[in-house]
Amino acid sequence: MAKIKIDINSGKIVKSNIVVGIDLGTTNSLVAWINPQTNKAEVIVDEWGALLPSVILIKPNADPVVGILAKESLLDAPERTIFSVKRLLGRSFQEITSAQQFLGYNIVEDEIDSMLRIEIDKKLYNAVELSAMILRALKHKAEKVLGQEVFQAVISVPAYFNDSQRQATRDAGKLAGLDVLRIINEPTAASLSYGLGLDRSVSQTILVYDLGGGTFDISILQIEDGVFEVLATQGDTRLGGDDIDYSIMAFWQETHPALANCDQPGDIQALRLLAETAKIFLSNNTNLIFTEWFEFSNTSTVQPQGIESATKEKIELSLNYGDLVNAAQVLVLKTQACIVAALRDASLKPSDIQALVLVGGSSRYPEISRVLSAQFPHLIINNSLNPDEVVALGAAIEADVLAGNRKDILLLDITPLGLGIETAGGLMDLLIPRNTKLPCRVRREYSTSVDGQINLQIAVFQGERAMVKENRKLGEFILKGIPAMPAGFPKIEVIFSVNADGVLTVYASELRSGVSQNIEIKPQYGLSDEALEKMLLDGFANAQSDMQVRGLQETINEAQQLIYSVNRFIAKNGDMLSPIQLVDTTQRIDALKRLLNIGSNKDALLQGITALNNHTRPFAENLMNIAISSALKGKEI
Ligand code: AMP
Repeated sequence: MAKIKIDINSGKIVKSNIVVGIDLGTTNSLVAWINPQTNKAEVIVDEWGALLPSVILIKPNADPVVGILAKESLLDAPERTIFSVKRLLGRSFQEITSAQQFLGYNIVEDEIDSMLRIEIDKKLYNAVELSAMILRALKHKAEKVLGQEVFQAVISVPAYFNDSQRQATRDAGKLAGLDVLRIINEPTAASLSYGLGLDRSVSQTILVYDLGGGTFDISILQIEDGVFEVLATQGDTRLGGDDIDYSIMAFWQETHPALANCDQPGDIQALRLLAETAKIFLSNNTNLIFTEWFEFSNTSTVQPQGIESATKEKIELSLNYGDLVNAAQVLVLKTQACIVAALRDASLKPSDIQALVLVGGSSRYPEISRVLSAQFPHLIINNSLNPDEVVALGAAIEADVLAGNRKDILLLDITPLGLGIETAGGLMDLLIPRNTKLPCRVRREYSTSVDGQINLQIAVFQGERAMVKENRKLGEFILKGIPAMPAGFPKIEVIFSVNADGVLTVYASELRSGVSQNIEIKPQYGLSDEALEKMLLDGFANAQSDMQVRGLQETINEAQQLIYSVNRFIAKNGDMLSPIQLVDTTQRIDALKRLLNIGSNKDALLQGITALNNHTRPFAENLMNIAISSALKGKEI
């Protein structure tokens, strides 16, 4: 479908058809496009270079400053210089308070929606607005360099971004005046840049290892004949180079007790930047020692009058490669565990991987290549791609595909976590398992469990556990106005549809009456990454016990349903039974109820169910005979 754009200020038709690819990074952001002259993806470079530091300076009564100039204000004006916005995107105040000590700016909780806001000069900003400032700066950068207006973009996000973080990114794009054609997973984008250079006739399984400033992502992809199929994704949205910086700071604080009194926001930022400088220096010079003087305000100095005032203190900080390795050890171990999990998800052995693609600034830390060489001894680490640029370039390639300029590539992405609804007894009924290809659509039929039920609550969950209480609730709604029917008679169709961005829509309808409803899965900015990661790891760890829990719960459901049916039979057809049969049946029902109260013995419950079923079967057969004979009586044969 052709689109015409009109500039609402000038009333003129805009002729631009440029669709850019944007890597909205925690530390740096980039914008790329397909140069029509070369037909190649290129990062857009202005006088400041290709990377735009994802840092924003908010000045009173002035437009925000984004980029290198803003980064320079980290030390002088830490309270109005915002960095790592991506870590705040789609998060609640509660989730971020622990990180507050490293941020120079003030984070507050909005009373209305309990979302976090950043407070500067008594004005509140949310993470979507701030991300939009970075996106707007990228849009302007592209427009300035290309000499054309840019309205459309593909924006990359970590594969492990949840629904609300994806929505928040999309909202930020909109706010920046961009029509976001697609949210693409960063490792998938990276694989596009890598795979484009491959011989089409060669099929390859690749592992993309993306370690940035604040996030870690892994994807395993199969590239064959222009089709990029994601086989598995893993990651951690709160793991990255920043963590190494914080560990180095902690190491210095341990070894230099005076640093306990370094608590001025500007000083903390200076220490953080020094830690990062040390890390990058040692990454490039593994056999040297990093040494630097550090000056800060010691706020603990108590004057004779008892008035606290700060005095300047200068200490020498140093770090060697061994210290760096210690500081980064936990991070490296976590990334290795993710690789193992990704391979397991894809049912592959390390030897099945034919290429490794390294992405993200932190993949330059030498231990990463060393550890990967040990995990994949048959491979030579591919350093030919620029790890800073590869995601933006891939996003530009996808943008070109969506703009209709390329027909030789097909991208098949997947869901990172299972999606399902709550059924009787709090069980998770999984409609879309994790690692399902996107876009996808699944329909399943349900019914009511009680006679005359006219409303049905449908609660949607995301996660890997058997019981919904251990998964994440995405939203719920009530399908109202179902005509009163006997239990089990309504046919309620539930459809889950996940689009190519990974965003879910749920539809429900009662097929006999046509009553239907769509659910808006409102983004709930409330799931911490620990929670997400925990959900996944718990899912693996508890698979066995979950099977037992599910088995027991299904038996409990069956017993309850049987008691309900037999009671209903007695209420309607009790006069068919002799007084002795009636007492006997009631006693058997009570016996099953007692077993239910005791709870956890599945075998005993199954026995009770079988006993009650065997006992009542002749009644049902008898009832059937009566119904048939009365039906026959009315008919002439
Ligand atoms: P990205 O989010 O991909 O821009 O990556 C930024 C992260 O990469 C930051 O934590 C940087 O400190 C880190 N980084 C950049 N260059 C290096 C390097 N040579 N060695 C180690 N870490 C690096």
